[in-house]
Amino acid sequence: MEKSKFFVTTPVYYVNDIPHIGHTYTTVAADVVARFWKQLGYDARLLTGTDEHGAKIAAAAKNHNKEPKEYADEISAEFKKAWQLLDIDFSRFIRTTDEDHIKVSQDFLQKLYDTGAIDPKPRLYKGLYCIGCEKFLSQNELKDGLCPDHLKPPVEHSEENYYFKLSAYQDRLIELIKNEDGKGIEVQPAKRKHEMLSKLELGLEDISISRANLEWGIPLPFDESHTTYVWIEALINYYTYGSPNKVWPADLHLVGKDIVWFHAVIWPAMLLAIGEQPPKQVFGHGFFTISGQKMSKSLGNVIKPSELVARYGVEGTRYVLLSAFPFGEDGDFSWETFDQLYNSNLANGLGNLVSRVSKLLELNKVTISQDQENIKPSLGLSELYSTLSLDQVLRNISEKVSTLDQKLNEWHPWEIKDPNTSSNWNEIVQGIRQIACDLYPFLPETSTKIRDIFSGPDVKKPEQALFPRLEVSS
Ligand SMILES: [Zn+2]
Repeated sequence: MEKSKFFVTTPVYYVNDIPHIGHTYTTVAADVVARFWKQLGYDARLLTGTDEHGAKIAAAAKNHNKEPKEYADEISAEFKKAWQLLDIDFSRFIRTTDEDHIKVSQDFLQKLYDTGAIDPKPRLYKGLYCIGCEKFLSQNELKDGLCPDHLKPPVEHSEENYYFKLSAYQDRLIELIKNEDGKGIEVQPAKRKHEMLSKLELGLEDISISRANLEWGIPLPFDESHTTYVWIEALINYYTYGSPNKVWPADLHLVGKDIVWFHAVIWPAMLLAIGEQPPKQVFGHGFFTISGQKMSKSLGNVIKPSELVARYGVEGTRYVLLSAFPFGEDGDFSWETFDQLYNSNLANGLGNLVSRVSKLLELNKVTISQDQENIKPSLGLSELYSTLSLDQVLRNISEKVSTLDQKLNEWHPWEIKDPNTSSNWNEIVQGIRQIACDLYPFLPETSTKIRDIFSGPDVKKPEQALFPRLEVSS
């Protein structure tokens, strides 16, 4: 029988910025999800990559005295390096400058044009344009006359753009997102779904999909004097991978909460227009503040993945990021709270349990069973993964660690004359093996180490602690 597939994506990250804790959060979460479905026997695919066209990139390259492609090459490489460092098992790292993406985007746009979803002629558009956002903003998106994200006034701008008839899809999108039959688009968490629906109820405007005076982009196949608007083109990357690899539709687009609209409304409408299926699930996760402040270059408080890895190791980083707060909520990062999470859950919790039990087994020459292969992910995990309750999965694991610790303390085998005869060991060893199995998507290397230690029949205490305790100044 053919394996079921599970196709998960991260956004393609815009190369005007180097990788930080926000990108890391999305990518690690996507990797965890993909690894879980793979562990269950699915053909799971993870797509990540970089978004490289647009006015901002052309300008940034110019500032650095570089060609746009040369500039994009450098930043894109930073992202790829970061994901390799973090043990992200991606199926492909896509770049929107890749040849196949350019070809698929042009075919996609031609189809939109041929079916009449794009106006045959460009329209003259006059409006308020935010250079930071690379888009026109409507009056009611402004706060005190400023772009709420960039805190700068938008500029008066007029140009000829081709338009996608987004307004034609309002009713179908509302029905899909309501998802009463379960065959539509599951927008999560629930508050994002409500946000999308209330915005949709207000009505949809057609959207501009091209730029007339910007060379750094993909030319429209039906009018090469225009390039494709970077937002529209970037969305197509999912299809560039998904369609030829026969994993379309995407099972999950994992995105930050600020771009749910693009993924749950605009992108599905584009797909409907060419007769393709919309994604099955769009999940918008929350943002990090840094010690209570918004993260920004100007405040100098940007946290890089390499800094996290230097302190917590690869697996410690994966753990602390996803256990800190519920995935759909906003949360705060501070070194103090992350240190504490690491020490209490990994160094003292899991690491200490493994060390304690393996030491006792070795000391008492206890032989253990070897039936490790039959262990499957705990029941109920699929449910938690399908709602991206990743922090809850980790909480369940921590509870299992505490239960085993407690059991050891009640039993105190170190005071028993001949502890190797006890059947209690079997229960404890099986418990640890179950923890290793459930932990695999988050901490693949640690999971393998634990499995090796307890593969039986003899147990040898590892020479190094799994998670060395961090010295924390108090
Ligand atoms: Zn802006």
